[in-house]
Amino acid sequence: MAVSLQQVVVRSEQDIVALRQRSRQIAALLGFGTQDQTRIATAVSEVTRIVFAQVRCARAEFTVEGENRPPSLCVRIDPGQGGSAASETIRQVGNNVAFTGACRLLDWCDISAMVDGRPVILLAKHLPGGADLGSDRLKKLAAQLVQPPTADGMEELEQQNRELVQALAELRLRQEELTALTRELEDTNRGVVALYAEIEEKAERLRRSDEMKSRFLSNTSHELRTPLSSIRALSQLLLDRVDGDLTPDQETQVTFIKTAAIDLSGLVNDLLDLAKIEAGKVAVIRSVFSVTDLFAALRGMLKPLAASDAVALIFQDPPDDILVDSDEGKVSQILRNLVFNALKFTEAGSVCISASVDAAGETQFDIVDTGIGIEEAHLPLIFEEFGQVENRLQKHSKGTGLGLPLCEKLAALLGGRITVTSTPGSGSTFTLRLPKQLPAGQDSGADLFADGAA
Ligand code: ADP
Repeated sequence: MAVSLQQVVVRSEQDIVALRQRSRQIAALLGFGTQDQTRIATAVSEVTRIVFAQVRCARAEFTVEGENRPPSLCVRIDPGQGGSAASETIRQVGNNVAFTGACRLLDWCDISAMVDGRPVILLAKHLPGGADLGSDRLKKLAAQLVQPPTADGMEELEQQNRELVQALAELRLRQEELTALTRELEDTNRGVVALYAEIEEKAERLRRSDEMKSRFLSNTSHELRTPLSSIRALSQLLLDRVDGDLTPDQETQVTFIKTAAIDLSGLVNDLLDLAKIEAGKVAVIRSVFSVTDLFAALRGMLKPLAASDAVALIFQDPPDDILVDSDEGKVSQILRNLVFNALKFTEAGSVCISASVDAAGETQFDIVDTGIGIEEAHLPLIFEEFGQVENRLQKHSKGTGLGLPLCEKLAALLGGRITVTSTPGSGSTFTLRLPKQLPAGQDSGADLFADGAA
């Protein structure tokens, strides 16, 4: 429900000055602060001035409304004409740039409002703090407004000057705040840029040390391979009694030397493989191969490892053969590693290898064992270089802790991934997923790092 506070009819320039004073007075009575009083007085007198300039007449009515919006001081301004002429005048007022500027001083401006069937311009500003003044209080306010303001031009000019000085002071303050803020922003930006440069430099250093690590690993691995091969060959010669017989103790010692050399060769080979992958120097040789054929080859290779009768090594051929577009050698290397691990950590039961194609067309290889399993907390560790889980089978099993990181890197090279689920005491399932096709760009030419050594 709108409560009318005051109506002002404008018939001369002088009346606009009076309207301005009246607007400020009403705004003050309604509790608006000095700045808002100036905003309201300026907007109301400016819009009325534009209307007056067109038709030499205007009417402004001050009301307090709270029906469709927060309680607000509303000013209805109309040209005091009949229907369509009034609409046309208001339309033209709406096109005036000064009108748009005046609207910015308030919360609401509407040039299509109708009051009692008359087109009006509606200006509104929410009451301070959303105050809802009761109608009794508003009636009392209206009574205080009975006396018309003295439209003293000089006094109003002085008031406007005061407002201008205040506005300028405020503007200056804002300007200073803005300058300080800009400076702060510049400092922050400089800080961020410096930080980025530092991060870049650190990343570069890291890249370089990573490269150096890979180079160091591959070089030393190369250097170690030849002497290790010699040790293996020579110890085998001794064990074959080529240079005469050995005492039982000598045989034990030479066997020990040979075993150590073989273990070391495994470590060196894994290190070399890792270094090659990290250096991006591993050639991917693409082919389309059959899972049944792959399983047949793996069966032949791994059967001798499953020496214990307590553990069954089962390759489950897929009912319909699956064709895989990848690098057969690398897939075989990953599966060998996973099956080898499964056999190492399974004392009884089975190690079962199967393959399937999922809905997305990915080929999935599952290596399921009934071994000792891995605690959930240790799962991330086993994919770290040299990461091994302490368990009772660990001491008896040969291992470097490099197999799984190598498998993970090989899988990534083929666009695939390895996941694991495990229950301690029940067993583990390692899964290798390969994409339908080798990712573009992975199919390389010759092995840039080829060394010929096995
Ligand atoms: P390695 O087998 O040479 O020690 P891996 O990187 O292949 O190195 O494996 C890391 C560790 O992960 C193993 O030492 C073992 O603790 C754990 N692990 C791997 N596979 C299995 C498995 N099937 N069952 C239980 N533990 C496993």
